[in-house]
Amino acid sequence: MSKFEDEETQAKLLEAFFEKLAAFSKRESEECPHCGQQVVSMVKSGRCVYLHPCMCRLWQGDIPETWQDATDKGQKE
Ligand SMILES: [Zn+2]
Repeated sequence: MSKFEDEETQAKLLEAFFEKLAAFSKRESEECPHCGQQVVSMVKSGRCVYLHPCMCRLWQGDIPETWQDATDKGQKE
């Protein structure tokens, strides 16, 4: 594989990842953008947001508005 093709593949993968991430943050998709598992909740730990049950790190920042009702904090007894 040439360097150019390699970069092109990487760019496509990155683009596909950001599309998944965008759909996920809007909650059009509930699949983890990293591993594809169904996500049931999110938890903010320090500066990062983690996904349950797969425990992938979503990103550094906040839980998206659309997912506020699926946070561990939001679950009431
Ligand atoms: Zn995951």
